[in-house]
Amino acid sequence: MTVRTRFAPSPTGLLHIGSARTALFNYLFARHHGGAFLLRIEDTDRERSTDAATQVILEGLDWLGLTRDEQTVFQSTRVARHAEVAHQLLAQGQAYYCYCTAEELRQMREQALAEGRSPRYDGRWRDRDPREAPAGVKPAIRLKAPRDGDTVVEDLVQGTVRVANAEMDDLIILRSDGTPTYLHAVVVDDHDMAITHVIRGDDHLTNTFRQVRIYQAIGWEPPAFAHIPLIHGADGAKLSKRHGAVSVLEFREDGFLPEALRNYLLRLGWSHGDLEVVDSDEAIRLFDIHAVNRGASRMDYAKLTNLNGIYIRKADDDRLTHEVLRRLAHRPDLSLGSIAAGRIRALMPQLKERAKTLVELADSAAFLAKVVPLPMEPKAAGQLTAEARLLLRDVGETLAATDFSTQSLDAALRGFAERTGRKLGQVAQPLRAALTGSTVSPGIDATLAALGRDEALARIAAAST
Ligand code: GLU
Repeated sequence: MTVRTRFAPSPTGLLHIGSARTALFNYLFARHHGGAFLLRIEDTDRERSTDAATQVILEGLDWLGLTRDEQTVFQSTRVARHAEVAHQLLAQGQAYYCYCTAEELRQMREQALAEGRSPRYDGRWRDRDPREAPAGVKPAIRLKAPRDGDTVVEDLVQGTVRVANAEMDDLIILRSDGTPTYLHAVVVDDHDMAITHVIRGDDHLTNTFRQVRIYQAIGWEPPAFAHIPLIHGADGAKLSKRHGAVSVLEFREDGFLPEALRNYLLRLGWSHGDLEVVDSDEAIRLFDIHAVNRGASRMDYAKLTNLNGIYIRKADDDRLTHEVLRRLAHRPDLSLGSIAAGRIRALMPQLKERAKTLVELADSAAFLAKVVPLPMEPKAAGQLTAEARLLLRDVGETLAATDFSTQSLDAALRGFAERTGRKLGQVAQPLRAALTGSTVSPGIDATLAALGRDEALARIAAAST
């Protein structure tokens, strides 16, 4: 059997990271088994679904590197097929026309509630002669599901779960206007797409029992199911905007690397010993759906941020430089050309050691693209006392005569400090203020080397007058 999984989002405006994790698990499961990972856009609700929302999903999946096989299936294009299967069930005697009006259904509901029962369709058209159909009422098609016994699902994450059939009513598969219900459409699509494993959020578990009844009625083999727990916030409530970022593209803007987010989402509720940093290839090799926890996972933004820092340090310097330039491009106070790009690239090995997000990384690199005279942060301005300015003049002279390699610069500064009876820090502090306009930066020698002789000397001169 070739494993085939699918991610089936409803395009409602954003790609929630809970959904992204569902997509990731489907992707990893398929790749682990050498199978196929498919995408189906569940856009049957034409009012709520927009092309823009579909684009957001595609962009998020692409950014995360969750590559799909085969063409994307749009559920809305398949309504004729959904109706066909509903009529097939009707012909097989596994479904029936229900002529209940909205008013009758409302009364049924109210009566059930008044009697303390859960509101359920009472099956009044199940065995009734269709010749009794009222004139002018368009019927819906309902599944004629068994009333005895249990519906059992052997879930790969939740274990064996069952519901008594008496607890479920005959669900509508085709509405009176001829449109399929969501539960029915999903079954028909999963069957036609030859999906072998449905991995989705555990909020769908109750739907699964109803869907299994549709499979049984048609005589199709149901896929295997794995219902994964939802992501909660630190307070235990379902993760929402008030906890922080929830949309995948928001994480991108906030400076997370896709591989870090993937690693974090994988580890959220899935573990392999105490392995924390799992790259993509290893994740595919190790992924096992049985190792997914049954309990809800809690989103820990601090942990994600730390993991992101680890991935930034591992990331390629050219790629990081590109990201930084993209993020700085809108800043009017910077002069971003090939010279600044060269400086940023040169200092990247040191810059990336300190940043936990690309936003921080870009901020820390911005000084390299500033224009002389540099604006000074208050603390840096405080370093530039009259004495420090004089010192900077001398340092400038020494540096003018130094070869601008990190090693020579380090030796020159140490020599200068020694000659003038100072500690290296006493020289480096005002120098850092002059070069960066701030009090934090990578090592002073690397910073000087990245700026290059002319720029470094111009900044020192500007700060010492
Ligand atoms: N469209 C559903 C959702 O976005 C998923 C349905 C499924 O995976 O079966 O929640």
